[in-house]
Amino acid sequence: MTEFRIADIQVSTVLLPFRFAFKHSLASRSFSQNVIVQVKLENSAGATISGLGESVPREYVTGESCNSAVDEIEKNFAPMLAGQTLADGVSPTDAAAHLLEAVAVANNVYSKRIGAAFCALELALLDACAKAEGIALCDWLAKRKDRWPDQSIQYGGVIPFGKRKTLSALLFFYKLYGFKTVKLKVGDDSELDIFTVRKARELLGNRVVLRVDANCAWNYDQTVEFSNRAKGFNIASIEQPVPFDRLDELVELTKVLQPEIVVDESLCTVDEAEKLAAMKACRGFNIRISKVGGLIAAQKIVDIAQKNRIHVHLGAQVGESGILTAAGRALAVANSSFENYEGAANFFLLKEDLTRENMTAGWGGKAKMPGGNGIGVTVDDRHLGRFVMKQPAANAAQDTAAIEATRRGLHV
Ligand SMILES: [Mg+2]
Repeated sequence: MTEFRIADIQVSTVLLPFRFAFKHSLASRSFSQNVIVQVKLENSAGATISGLGESVPREYVTGESCNSAVDEIEKNFAPMLAGQTLADGVSPTDAAAHLLEAVAVANNVYSKRIGAAFCALELALLDACAKAEGIALCDWLAKRKDRWPDQSIQYGGVIPFGKRKTLSALLFFYKLYGFKTVKLKVGDDSELDIFTVRKARELLGNRVVLRVDANCAWNYDQTVEFSNRAKGFNIASIEQPVPFDRLDELVELTKVLQPEIVVDESLCTVDEAEKLAAMKACRGFNIRISKVGGLIAAQKIVDIAQKNRIHVHLGAQVGESGILTAAGRALAVANSSFENYEGAANFFLLKEDLTRENMTAGWGGKAKMPGGNGIGVTVDDRHLGRFVMKQPAANAAQDTAAIEATRRGLHV
């Protein structure tokens, strides 16, 4: 194997405008600020190969902002990796994974909510190394599980908060598009919530799986009340009904309610996954690689879920580019069937994506891996440059304008 050195690590923040504002119980936004990391490897002959990683830090998920994530990468993670030589004798991707685990352990990535910072850097290094090795990351992940990646997966749709007319229009569109699973954002107002699930069942028919996500909006009693009132509509799962730290309530709800309780905001680290599983605080994990610290951490959480018979739901950040979509898909195809797959709405949400490859789920929500090495996607440098913010996320006023956190936000 050729020996590679980590020659350069660049961190930037990009701003990706949306086609429309996306609203749920914790926030409303019309664009996304994402962190992008570029890692350059160099071999002894001076040849270089680069990799790209992305994450979407959200204050109301992990408590991170683009600013804090960039800081964490530049001050703590990157100095431990820059200039390092990837061990000879093992594959570059295995060597990188080994190095990344050491950096993660040294910085408590598996117990501290700093996953978005780590994710962007981890993906960039793994992408570069897998490209150097000539393999796809989904194959590398699947090999660790002793299997071949699945050919394709089938995404479901997500309905944000909106006016009643918009709700019907979106439901019609999803029906036409052929989504087999639809998740509805709830928690704004109890009458509207029931109207939403009734409308969805009416328009989508009985064969579509309906899920709801309350994004921390309710307490124990409100969750039970919703579940009772929604009984006739066959809701498969209720995601994050209560605030992230109400684990005792999640345990009780998991015991008494028929719909599967899925955790999302409560699950941001590997250690939290262990604790939630040990407490039996849910029957489903929503795993988004950006919040949990990248592919290796996400794989650890999948393993915890499978060991404890907890369903895995592949989650996504609203506003992620094709880089994160491809990385999430790589995790999904590398493992045996998840309960649900979310994301890949890139074309519908983003005015422009960063990747050349179109990662948007097709008819029926079906999607395959793009086929390239590494994460599998490519980005033109000049195209990327158009989205880079000159003063990375330094303008607090811009943040406030973008994120209208409600009173239920975790950090307001
Ligand atoms: Mg959620």
